[in-house]
Amino acid sequence: MKAQLHLQFSSINAGNGLSEPAPPGVRLDKLISAARHNEAAWRRFRALELALMSADGLDELLDLLLVQAPVDMDWDAVDLHLLDGDHEVRRLLHTRDQSDGTAGVRVRWLRDVSRCAAASAARGPLPRLGLYQPERHEELFAHLAAPPASVALLPLSRGRRGLGTYAIGSRDPDRFHHSLATDFLQHLAAVISVCVETAINREQLRHLGLTDALTAVGNRRYFDQRLNEEMMRAQRARASLGCLFVDVDHFKGINDRYGHAVGDEVLQTIAQRIRSQLRGADVVARYGGEEFSVLLPQADLARAADVAERIRRAIAEAPIAISGSIDLLAVTASIGVATCIGIDGDAEGHARRLLSAADTALYRAKQQGRNRVERAR
Ligand code: GH3
Ligand code: MG
Ligand code: MG
Repeated sequence: MKAQLHLQFSSINAGNGLSEPAPPGVRLDKLISAARHNEAAWRRFRALELALMSADGLDELLDLLLVQAPVDMDWDAVDLHLLDGDHEVRRLLHTRDQSDGTAGVRVRWLRDVSRCAAASAARGPLPRLGLYQPERHEELFAHLAAPPASVALLPLSRGRRGLGTYAIGSRDPDRFHHSLATDFLQHLAAVISVCVETAINREQLRHLGLTDALTAVGNRRYFDQRLNEEMMRAQRARASLGCLFVDVDHFKGINDRYGHAVGDEVLQTIAQRIRSQLRGADVVARYGGEEFSVLLPQADLARAADVAERIRRAIAEAPIAISGSIDLLAVTASIGVATCIGIDGDAEGHARRLLSAADTALYRAKQQGRNRVERAR
């Protein structure tokens, strides 16, 4: 493939007057051979672009760009730098399905274009090809023990908005020689740009559909999805899975006394306090009204009850300040705790029983006086 790409580019340069004149027959052979190689290279680029355009989601797209493309195209290294000034894309990658969590790891995130010399070098609309220059390209290929010899920097943009840079490296100093034609790479840059923008937009829409607008934690749909995923993972790993139901005590009274808007503020604070007690892989959602649900992967009953007790205290120990009032609201919550061990069989059935056990425990916590944690029996 490498040889084909060389010929592809040199064929395009055949008319630049630098080459030695060759006899007409030889020249024709060379042109035919170059045209064949050109076509092969074009097919390869087209296959990559089709794969990028059919990628199902941001993870798959990033995987194609960072893992698959170098193999298929015989590139020695690639680097993807994406603009993400306010961490929004990283949050998206982090908050939704964390089953793999690998997608964003190899992306270099930029606060703005000027933060990356390579990106600013590539800020024009066209790909830049040339030798790797340590002083200009030091941000590129930082994961490699030795930098490549030549690089192609593909600027990614939509309209006037820069998205980042896709950098391709080769150990061969001539592979991305500055005099080579860049048509295929230019086309590829345009396709990558559209795909990246679309994938991010779709991810944002999906995120909105799974997020509770008031508290910014997951909604019930999100919770149900994650419950099934986590249950299947627990089954595969024969691991335990903890589940909590957290219900605010006498919440109706807060609404009645202070109004719905204050009730909303209280729910936001409670969501933050629950979240503050959880780890990255834990799941929290607003299950409905003033009730939150939590999933604790790999937590046995003792650990789940421990987390529940910390959440109970985080809510009860500090009264909640409300805007426009000097009143501090003493709010408490009751929590039901249940766990299960991943065993074979119907994952949905196991999930239903886990929820039901946590719900029954919550009911008992309410009956026994509220502001307390009850474990499933
Ligand atoms: P308990 O201790 O038994 O849980 O009593 P409670 O008052 O908390 O429970 P109840 O189910 O009687 O009342 C829940 C209230 O939560 C009723 C409903 O109006 C209110 N609520 C549900 N969703 C929202 C919301 O989004 N915002 C506000 N402010 N209130 C809500
Ligand atoms: Mg309640
Ligand atoms: Mg309730």
